[in-house]
Amino acid sequence: MPELPEVETIKNGLLKTIKGRTIKSVEVRLPKIISIGPATVSNIRKNNKSKARLFEDVLRGKKIEGIKRRAKMFIISLSGGYDILIHLKMTGQLIYSAPKEKPKTVKMFNAANSRILTLPHKYTHVIFYFTDGARLYFNDLRQFGYLRLVKRGELSEVRELQQYGPEPFSKDFTMDYLAGKMKTRPRLSVKQFLVEPKVVAGVGNIYSDEILYCAKVQPDRKVGGLKPAEKKALFQCIPRILKEGVAHHGSSVGDYFQVDGSEGTYGRIHRVYAKAGQLCRECGTMIKSVKLGGRTSSYCPVCQK
Ligand SMILES: [Zn+2]
Repeated sequence: MPELPEVETIKNGLLKTIKGRTIKSVEVRLPKIISIGPATVSNIRKNNKSKARLFEDVLRGKKIEGIKRRAKMFIISLSGGYDILIHLKMTGQLIYSAPKEKPKTVKMFNAANSRILTLPHKYTHVIFYFTDGARLYFNDLRQFGYLRLVKRGELSEVRELQQYGPEPFSKDFTMDYLAGKMKTRPRLSVKQFLVEPKVVAGVGNIYSDEILYCAKVQPDRKVGGLKPAEKKALFQCIPRILKEGVAHHGSSVGDYFQVDGSEGTYGRIHRVYAKAGQLCRECGTMIKSVKLGGRTSSYCPVCQK
C-alpha cells in the first residue's frame, strides 16, 4: 500500500503534469470506484451508475487548479468550486500520458504472473482526457481505491479527512504531541502505534519498520516502556525517514509507480523492511521478523534494543 512518500511523490508528479490542464471528458469504466459528496466508506461500494454519470458531467470542461496531499489522500481542486478526493488504497495507480505520447505500458506487479500491460487495460477504471490530448489513467487491480467528487465547502465533512493525525512535516507534529499520544496507548507495541492513522498521517508498514530501525527501537516494545531518549529518537526519525523516502521518490513495492510509470528507488535504501533472513548492513547480524497485530515487522536484534 502506498504510504506518505509514495503519495507525496505522485502528488508532485501530478503538479508537474496535470495542473493547469482542462478536462475535455472523463470515462468511468467501473462505476463503483466513484462516489459523490462527503460519503462514508460504505457508500463508496454501491454500484451506482448515475453517480458515475454525474462525475463525468461535472468534470467536463473543468480546469485542474491545484493538487494537495492529506495523509494518503489526494485533493485535486477544480474550477467551479469542486474537489476530487482520490485514495489509492492497496493497489491504485495514477499514470500520466503526455499529448502525442505513444501508448504507455505499465507493470502490474501483483497480477497473476506480473505482466507489462498497455494502457488502458482491464484494470484501468477511470480515464481523464485533457483538451490538449494528455491523459491520466486510474488503474487499480484490487479495486479498493476510490475517486470522490465533493463541493469545496463539503471537504470539512469528509470523515476520512477528520480521522488523520497531524502531518509529520507540519508544525502540529511536536514532541509534546507525540508524547501525549504515547501516554494514551501505553500497552500497544510501538510498531502498531506508528501505523495508527490518528497518531501521525501517512505511516504504514514499510516506513514504520525503517523509522524503528532509525530510532534503534525493536518493534514489539510497548509504547509505555520507552525511555525518554527513545521517544525523542522516534519523534526525530519519523519525519527524517519519510523525507528520505520522498527524496528517493518512494518505494516501488507492489503496484506503486510514479505518474510517469517509473519506479521509486527507496527500496534500495531499505535497511530492514522485508529483509528478514538477510544481514544487517550496519552490524552483520541476521535481520529477524515478528508478527504484531497481523503485520510482519522486520528489525535488527542488535542495532535495535
Ligand atoms: Zn544491525
